[in-house]
Amino acid sequence: MLDPRRRVPRTDAVLADPRIAAAAARLGRPLVKEAVTAAQQQARDGLIAPEDVAEAALAALPPVATSLRSVLNATGVVLHTNLGRAPLGPAAREALGVAAGNCDVELDLATGARGRRGAGVVDALRAAVPGAGGAHVVNNGAAALALIAATFAVGREIVVSRGELVEIGDGFRIPDLVESTGARLREVGTTNRTHLADYERAIGPDTAFVLKVHPSNFTVTGFTSAVGVEKLAGLGVPVVADIGSGLLAPHPLLPDEPDAASVLAAGAVLVTASGDKLLGGPQAGLILGDGELVERVRRFPLARAMRVDKLTLAALEATLRGPVPPVRAALDAPVAELRARAEALAAQLPDVDVRVVDSAATVGGGGAPGVTLDSVALSLPESYAAALRAGEPAVLGRLESGRCLLDLRALAPADDEVLAGCVRAVRSGA
Ligand SMILES: *Cc1c(COP(=O)(O)O)cnc(C)c1O
Repeated sequence: MLDPRRRVPRTDAVLADPRIAAAAARLGRPLVKEAVTAAQQQARDGLIAPEDVAEAALAALPPVATSLRSVLNATGVVLHTNLGRAPLGPAAREALGVAAGNCDVELDLATGARGRRGAGVVDALRAAVPGAGGAHVVNNGAAALALIAATFAVGREIVVSRGELVEIGDGFRIPDLVESTGARLREVGTTNRTHLADYERAIGPDTAFVLKVHPSNFTVTGFTSAVGVEKLAGLGVPVVADIGSGLLAPHPLLPDEPDAASVLAAGAVLVTASGDKLLGGPQAGLILGDGELVERVRRFPLARAMRVDKLTLAALEATLRGPVPPVRAALDAPVAELRARAEALAAQLPDVDVRVVDSAATVGGGGAPGVTLDSVALSLPESYAAALRAGEPAVLGRLESGRCLLDLRALAPADDEVLAGCVRAVRSGA
């Protein structure tokens, strides 16, 4: 018997294989070399035949030069933080293609002079929220709030209800964030009840503004009371509202979710929100409101450190101007439509133990806590879950009562065929 080690092809020889060379041109040589080295080791260990080294290396290569992998969101959580919140729609993806190269992000092509960065997004935001005299975009919702605190409240007080001291995730807390800028928080009321008089007593010469934070990932029920923006605005100090979710106007299915237009109409001077929650765009922080105040925020030195790149500006503008983004389509999809899609999918999987079942979807960490959305799912044996996660693209479902549920609420209809293919691939591999 020949020692397989002697027959393992040399690295140079494998790298010279035209398919491997093409992959190296596309993905970069280090990544491809790593895959070749791993495949050579497999051959030495006798796990693959020496003549299959190139094949094995190719199979192990990622489709693109990123370790990030595409995941189909079949969890029924429309805004899944671990999956990058909102998926971008076709309009935003096309805009990313334009912005990926050189583009006139800060140039006036008519005159050849410097142009105002992000003017297109600002126009689109002001068109979408008529009450907003000004608009500015930063990295994310947290940056938007921190920048406002840094601009107006360093060494001064921000008055906020104890019922609105929110932890937004991964251990990050709004009160810590605000205080890290050098502003002082003046907490009023209790966890469950805060009254107008509590705010009144706390307001004084040191007050920079009253902050209203939307509890976007929890609800408090029972003996509760909170003061709305309209009443707070009557106190004679500026009100800043962190609405979280990024709804620009009211949404009929989410009556308890605040929106920028209504909050500004109620008297807030500034509103902050995320771009990648219910707005359905890229990660971004929106600052909307009084034109002069927005301009002060925009000119504040720290604003430069929170500036968004051209990719974000392009994707955000396309989300605002383009057709309904996937997140909104997912929220609005009628259950009958989801059921029809599920039945069609099940029909394509004749030899799979699949059932069409009712399901309950949620909006997710991005807003509307406690709201469930009627949905429909494919129910598969539990063993499918891990195999689907390992596929290309990966599919993330939900485990429930010993079954793997693939909920269609958060999945774009255009991805149904791909999902069916992923399930078939698992079935034939099993
Ligand atoms: C999500 C959220 C934030 C943080 O926004 P990011 O875009 O994640 O930085 C802040 N405040 C509220 C109320 C939120 O819901």
